[in-house]
Amino acid sequence: MSQDDVFCKIIRGEIPCYKIFEDQDVLAFLDISQVTKGHVLVIPKEHYDNFLAAPQEVIHKVMDVAQRIGQVQIQMLGAKGVNILTNCYEAAGQSVNHFHVHVIPRYEKGDGFILEMKDNSKDLNLPMIAKSIKDQL
Ligand code: AMP
Repeated sequence: MSQDDVFCKIIRGEIPCYKIFEDQDVLAFLDISQVTKGHVLVIPKEHYDNFLAAPQEVIHKVMDVAQRIGQVQIQMLGAKGVNILTNCYEAAGQSVNHFHVHVIPRYEKGDGFILEMKDNSKDLNLPMIAKSIKDQL
């Protein structure tokens, strides 16, 4: 069901965007913030709060488009790499409550995108953590 978030408004044509791709199910457009040149958002037209709430077929359609855009960013924009990411819930940095995938072309160190993954494994019980996730799948 359609909601009041900014991406539903873009889908309904109430807010403009720089459209990259559109079909029956998926829309892709430039992120207004452009972390790096050519930063694109890919969203399903049907509203889901985030990746974790979306059905598999919707995820497949969105990720197919994200893959094609990433390939074009490398071929046509001169990107050397691409980060493809989706934030789920505020704690993970999600600010728009509508499933979206960032496709961020990467050019060089210091190009505007920072993702820091520290190694915090030292005091963790890895066998127990692995089991607690594995047992619920
Ligand atoms: P996230 O923090 O993962 O929820 O990302 C939301 C993204 O939406 C941010 O990178 C914003 O720059 C982007 N954004 C918000 N409003 C608009 C808009 N009207 N058009 C394009 N991108 C937007």
